[in-house]
Parts: sequence; structure tokens; C-alpha cells
Amino acid sequence: MLRFLRATITLLAAVAIVYAIWKRLAPRLEDLPARAVTAKPLDPAFHRLTPREMATLPLAPRFDHPLGSEHGALAYNAQPFRITRHLGDDLNGIGGQDSDLGDPVYAAAAGRVALARDVGGGWGKMVILAHRMPDAGEKSGWKVWQTVYAHLENIQVRLGESVERGRQIGKVGTADGRYLAHLHFEIREGPYVNPGVGYADTPMNRVSPERFLFQHRGAEPELLNPPPLPEAAEVEVTRLPE
Ligand SMILES: [Zn+2]
Repeated sequence: MLRFLRATITLLAAVAIVYAIWKRLAPRLEDLPARAVTAKPLDPAFHRLTPREMATLPLAPRFDHPLGSEHGALAYNAQPFRITRHLGDDLNGIGGQDSDLGDPVYAAAAGRVALARDVGGGWGKMVILAHRMPDAGEKSGWKVWQTVYAHLENIQVRLGESVERGRQIGKVGTADGRYLAHLHFEIREGPYVNPGVGYADTPMNRVSPERFLFQHRGAEPELLNPPPLPEAAEVEVTRLPE
């Protein structure tokens, strides 16, 4: 019993001494230079838009197709969202193969450039636009979405630049010869900006681009081309003499 007591007291004394030494030697928060106290981002490639950045994003009430015509004609989806764990759509020109190499890639909506550089890996040159979409379900009245354009041949926008819907942001590429030319296009929810991955077991913060574009085309009927008038459909038929 006495031995146990002695051992306990020795242990407590040791802990007290270590604590006292640590207290004396450990730098105090106020003594540290400011740069050591300010939290640094873990990876400069990973960025969360600040509240100010979000609140000043261009409003994006309408989204259109980033390739081909604004309604998506002249382009097709070779590998849709969630097929073989894919997190985006692979958009191609209807000519197939590399026929769309160098075709213009357009901003799907008004937004600001949140990333524009060669991120390497399987991505190649990549542009991410951040958008503020009106959303009645949110307390702020809007929600942040991102559109992602990858494997580009070149980049025609700069980081931080505001772009209009339909503005050319780059050209369809092959990610430096890794693939047949196509546009990997994603729509991501929220303010976290990073290249991320193109394939995963869960959709993470991605949604189906095709469905999202369909839901947020926002084109009023009068903005669409009118259907051919019935009169125009009447073709004059010259009857052969019987
Ligand atoms: Zn892809």
C-alpha cells in the first residue's frame, strides 16, 4: 500500500514538473508573430469563397449549354453524370473524334473566374466560374454554384475576372493529348473552390449538368425562336398531269 502511494506521488510530481517546464518554455500566443497565429489554408489550391466574394458574385438567373449552340445543338454528351462514377458530363461536338478540337467553350452563366490554370493530372487546363443564382429557398435570396470546364486547349479568362453568360472562356482540348478532344463539364454546389476529382463513389457536391441546365435555362417562351408558322409549312405541290 505504501509502495503504491509512493509511486502515485512520484508520478504526480513528474507530471507537475513537466507541466511547469512546458508552461515556462511554451511560447505565449501574444508573443508569437501575427503570421504564425493567422490560420493558413492547408493547400493554396483549396479555397473557400469569402462572404464578401460570394455576395459580390455576378447574379446568374439563367444557365446555357457551354458547347455548340446555346441550346446544346451541335454537341452531345458522351459520358453523362454518374455513369462509371463520373462527376460531370463529357461534351463533344457531333463530328466525333477530334473534330471539336479548338471549338469555343462558353461561360454557361454570368459569373466570376474562381480558378483558371493548368492543374495537371488528368485535368489539364481548367476554368471554374462561381455564380450567384437567385434562390427563394435561401435566407440570402441566392445560392452559390460553380461551373467547371476541364481539358481545355487554352484559357481565355483571368482569375477574378467577371464574365457574361456566353462569353468565350477557352477552347476544347485534349488535356495535353491525354484524351480525344472533349469538354469535361461539371456543376458544383457551394463556395469551396478546388480542382477536386472527376470520378468518385458519391456525387459529392456535384449535380447532373444536363438536368441543371434543363431546369435553369430560364428562357421565357418569347426568348425562344418561334416555331414555323402553319402557312410556311404548306408546301405547294405541283401535281403531275394524270
Ligand atoms: Zn469527364
